[in-house]
Amino acid sequence: MCMRVFVCRVSICEYATIGNVTETLWEAASEADIDTLRQQLDRIPRGVIGIGARCVCGRPTVVVTAPRLEDGSPFPTMFYLTHPGAVKGCSTLEAEKTMEQLNDWLAEDDQAREAYKRAHEDYISRRRRLGEVPEIDGISAGGMPTRVKCLHALVGHALAVGQGINVVGDRALELMEERNLWSPTRCTCEM
Ligand SMILES: [Zn+2]
Repeated sequence: MCMRVFVCRVSICEYATIGNVTETLWEAASEADIDTLRQQLDRIPRGVIGIGARCVCGRPTVVVTAPRLEDGSPFPTMFYLTHPGAVKGCSTLEAEKTMEQLNDWLAEDDQAREAYKRAHEDYISRRRRLGEVPEIDGISAGGMPTRVKCLHALVGHALAVGQGINVVGDRALELMEERNLWSPTRCTCEM
């Protein structure tokens, strides 16, 4: 199987070509993006591959991170949520025991449980495109495939890959919207 990742200089997007399928995975990070990431994370961002999702203002919302960092340590969270408003929204939901409700939902709803398993497989197959890291092989993020343990990781995945892939991430985004905690359609970066 042909498997390569290259930079398209015309559109400054990264594509993965797997077999005959080419898909946009992320945009290259500019110097301005790296500066913003540094502010958002309050540290030097590590293992940056590109920007997986952006705020409507253009600032990064999700950074795509290498499965192995510069120092050699494995890093399973390929889609890392950086937007302060989104991070805070997830933290608020977690503090309000939303994860317990989502775990109950997965326990009761066969379709949701199956979809969550598929989200886990999606996560791992996307990360494999960045390289094989045996230490985290079969491990995704956020508690997948059976538990909800970190909404930040699940929302990061949902924002980067779009609606319909991570059922729990999608639900957390809906809850944030309903509760007016955060929305990907409004910029709150300057607040
Ligand atoms: Zn913004």
